[in-house]
Amino acid sequence: MSKHFDLLAIGGGSGGLSAAERAAEYGRKTAIIENHKLGGTCVNVGCVPKKIMWFASGIAETLHSATGYGFDVSLKDFHWDRLVTAREKYINGINTWYTSYLAESNIEHIQGTARFVDARTVDVDGTRYTADHIVIAPGGVPILPDISGKEHAITSDGFFALTEKPERVVVIGAGYIAVELAGMLNGLGSEVSLLLRKDHFLGSFDAMLREALMEEMIEAGVNIMPRINVERIEKQSNGRLTLHCASGMTLADYDAVVYAIGRQPNTTPLNLELAGVKTDESGYIPTDFFQNTNVEGIYAVGDVTGRAQLTPVAIAAARRLSDRLFNNMPERRLDYHNIPTVVFSHPPIGTVGLTEDEAREQYGDSVKTYQTGFTAMYHALAPNPQRTAMKLVCVGPEEKIVGVHIIGMGADEMLQGFAVAIKMGATKKQLDDTVAIHPTSSEELVTMR
Ligand code: FAD
Ligand code: NDP
Repeated sequence: MSKHFDLLAIGGGSGGLSAAERAAEYGRKTAIIENHKLGGTCVNVGCVPKKIMWFASGIAETLHSATGYGFDVSLKDFHWDRLVTAREKYINGINTWYTSYLAESNIEHIQGTARFVDARTVDVDGTRYTADHIVIAPGGVPILPDISGKEHAITSDGFFALTEKPERVVVIGAGYIAVELAGMLNGLGSEVSLLLRKDHFLGSFDAMLREALMEEMIEAGVNIMPRINVERIEKQSNGRLTLHCASGMTLADYDAVVYAIGRQPNTTPLNLELAGVKTDESGYIPTDFFQNTNVEGIYAVGDVTGRAQLTPVAIAAARRLSDRLFNNMPERRLDYHNIPTVVFSHPPIGTVGLTEDEAREQYGDSVKTYQTGFTAMYHALAPNPQRTAMKLVCVGPEEKIVGVHIIGMGADEMLQGFAVAIKMGATKKQLDDTVAIHPTSSEELVTMR
């Protein structure tokens, strides 16, 4: 006999946990199936360990800046292993907290791999579970390219498993993860090369942001190499790695090669075909804006949908789905427009809305931009000053703001409030009418001319 639930979530990451939590709040009988660690990618091999490494490299930056403020600081050593031990202890604490939280919330935690038997039934290691509503939230896994010697390379998962600092490291890729990992490794003292297959990274971001970040990373010592295609990785007799590139060039003597070239949905073990759930050519599960798949009663949220692969997006979509299903809110859904996002680079990027190019394509000549660039006061005294740059993209005679793009110290914390303003339809005049907070960098966003 199978056990029946109102809602069954496949995946105990950001999306699955949030759908189950909200359903349980409405008194529904709910379970989560997780085959690894509760918390999913974000907690275990994503946002959380990443942010800790980012804080650590930020501390290294601060120590460098301290001399400019009169401190006589000598940096004796940095112990990567101590940092990793402390980081993993913190993460284990979150895992443990989730286990007790699920128990307190009356959410059944089923440990194992979920496989569909049919559209209402899921098997976990020989035990069957049925549900009125099944939420598919298995997230994704990092990709390695299909090249000879790929087994010598690691991905972001392998980066978090490193127990000692790689002295010489290559990061290959051009997205969030590549620039974040390259920046952190450089900040923590590795010698870093970042290999791009094109001329630039962060291709979907506003040009001002990617150009400013590239300058800052080069200035900070990252060796950025555009237009490189790696064809083969070879292990040297001394254990280090050599890259053979399409141009005939070889790059030798690396302790680690980190690929950050995107992720793929984690759908293989699910037997989606037995439930009749369709996937696209990349394996993602298409949904409508209410998170419905093509099969009634089966929904997908988070990275597996291929849309805006960010933790708060998975959480927001999942919560709204349970609101819709169990709290009589038939129109409740996530609006996927104007999702703010931060790249935890050095310096960080905060961005929301349309890039200038996207706005010009959509609105033509009615686009007006405001831009500023300056050295933040903090960096005026620092030996390695960083630039801050900001852009507002406005549209129409009322100058409605359709894009805010910031790079510089504090951009990560600055953006959230401006994202609220954009969501509310703010105009340039409304920003101008807001009294600035002085002395800050964010005041520039309400005083731009
Ligand atoms: P996941 O969190 O991946 O959860 C899926 C869970 O399902 C996993 O625990 C998996 O073990 C489990 N699972 C899979 N298949 C099965 C199965 N068949 N049966 C049972 N269980 C299964 N986002 C941000 O917003 N900010 C950041 O700073 C950020 N940094 C990131 C840094 C890195 C290095 C990475 C890789 C990602 C980062 N992300 C960040 C993205 C964020 O982690 C994801 O968008 C988010 O975790 C997606 O949540 P999810 O619920 O869709 O999937
Ligand atoms: P992305 O999809 O963001 O970027 C990968 C990029 O790598 C591609 O866009 C491509 O850029 C380049 N690339 C692809 N194939 C190759 C190849 N064979 N060789 C060299 N370069 C290649 O993937 P990520 O892995 O960086 O991150 C996955 C997702 O996780 C992100 O999109 C984001 O949603 C989420 N994330 C969010 C973070 C945050 O919120 N701060 C942090 C980390 C991840 P091009 O075509 O220009 O070469």
